Amino acid sequence: GAYEKMTGNVNGKDELAQMERMFNEMMEQLEQNFRKQEQFVSNASHELKTPLTVIESYTRLLARRGFDNREVVDEALTAVISETGRMKDMIEQMLDLAKSGEAQTVEFTEVNLNQLLEGVVKPLRQAYGREIIIEADRKLIVETDGKFVKQLLFILLDNARKYSEQEIIASIYERENDVEVSIKDYGKGIPHVDLPHIFDRFYRVDSDRSRKTGGTGLGLSIAKEIADGLGATLTIDSVVDKGTVARFFIPKKGKTLRDF
Ligand code: ADP
Repeated sequence: GAYEKMTGNVNGKDELAQMERMFNEMMEQLEQNFRKQEQFVSNASHELKTPLTVIESYTRLLARRGFDNREVVDEALTAVISETGRMKDMIEQMLDLAKSGEAQTVEFTEVNLNQLLEGVVKPLRQAYGREIIIEADRKLIVETDGKFVKQLLFILLDNARKYSEQEIIASIYERENDVEVSIKDYGKGIPHVDLPHIFDRFYRVDSDRSRKTGGTGLGLSIAKEIADGLGATLTIDSVVDKGTVARFFIPKKGKTLRDF
């Protein structure tokens, strides 16, 4: 049009339009991040207030009726200790989340997955007092970041422990384009309606159940973030009263090595 003729610059308008698009996208991203941050702060305050309220009311009960009542003392102290522990876990996990937001460096190296899994599982068998079976048909070495894979395994194994009572099965399978790592339990399972929300921060299927098991609703949202950082896909399949399988798929990048 007239503008191109005047400036003699045929691309000027296109460039301007492209810059405007980029600017708008950037602003949208910033706004989105800001809203997420706001939501997080508001959720976090709410979640931290709950145990604090319990602690406050039990402390008041102690002050009122604790002096000559052993039962009240026991009940109040048990609640205070357990709620304090939950708050501590929550704060620790929030700090982990904040760290993971800060572009923590992902360093890809060749990782022997079988060795890594064995190293994670061995001490947990002891700690959980439960069988954790490892299934793997061959040794697989992939390019990934071992420290993040470990964190991911800890979160998924801990959920399997919290929401089931029988043995846990950890397996590694080679697929066409990726290596599948899965953690399977025969526990309570997750209702179908809850499945779309379980990666949301602070989401718990049943806060009462979760409270008893010391859950915070942050574990899977952290796991999702870690998986994203590794370029891995994280999925959860579950059937109520049958059990749950959490899987993550580590891309092969054409460099997977096998060792029979
Ligand atoms: P939490 O700290 O409460 O375990 P997560 O983010 O790790 O939080 O998990 C979210 C919710 O998903 C849990 O509260 C629990 O209800 C459900 N969940 C996660 N893993 C399992 C599992 N293996 N079996 C049954 N329910 C699970």
